[in-house]
Amino acid sequence: MYDLMNGIGNHEVLIATPHHGPDAFIKDLSQIEKLTGVIIKRMRELKKDQRLKYVLIFKNHGKAAGGGNIPHEHLQLIATPVTPKRVKEELVGSKRYFEYKDRCVFCDMIIQELDQKERVFLEIDNFLAINPYCSRFPFETWILPRKHSCDFDTMSKNEIKSFSRVFQSTMRGMIKTLGNFPYNIILHTSPFRRRKKKGYWETIENDYHWHIEIMPRLTQVAGFEWGSGFYINPTPPEQACAYLKETEKSE
Ligand SMILES: [Zn+2]
Ligand SMILES: [Zn+2]
Repeated sequence: MYDLMNGIGNHEVLIATPHHGPDAFIKDLSQIEKLTGVIIKRMRELKKDQRLKYVLIFKNHGKAAGGGNIPHEHLQLIATPVTPKRVKEELVGSKRYFEYKDRCVFCDMIIQELDQKERVFLEIDNFLAINPYCSRFPFETWILPRKHSCDFDTMSKNEIKSFSRVFQSTMRGMIKTLGNFPYNIILHTSPFRRRKKKGYWETIENDYHWHIEIMPRLTQVAGFEWGSGFYINPTPPEQACAYLKETEKSE
């Protein structure tokens, strides 16, 4: 009854900058562009390994976020032979929404956010940084491309440039507001889908939309959250967004 599978996969450390010290990589735009290029290259390469289903890119910063004791800025890549549970839940949710409305849930979210404005922190070129509606954590921020795309690794050179700019400005703005805060960054992109099975991945190109989730770890995930899967967020996203924008303007 206890099913096991072999621990096949890849674990890679992506060194974000040649310079030592906290947030050294956020200061250098060309370094963020390079790093994005490296992530894309690794994803395309790992896609060739038929055993793998997903590449998860993440960054832990600070003790409260599981950042450990390595002071040199780095990200991690873990390629797994299964689609991670969290990603799957999002994929299933997006697919359901698409079946119901015939539209991408993230594209709809972008339209609504741009219309309401109160949760849009930044808008640079074709990218958006928002504090999502009913967010789980104080100052939780997402970065999304306005152009619909389910794959992070299909970005053009120009898109990589714009993405790097919005990422840098978002992180800078958050650091300006929150100081050297602990955080997790997670890239949510579509899984590898080589063989198209019936009923599987049929609409993913239309229903899923890649994005980055930046989760400041300012509050503790405790009994209520573990027990319920609900999150208590003392800072509503509308308030967080107003703070971020205000600090952005101040010198
Ligand atoms: Zn979309
Ligand atoms: Zn997500």
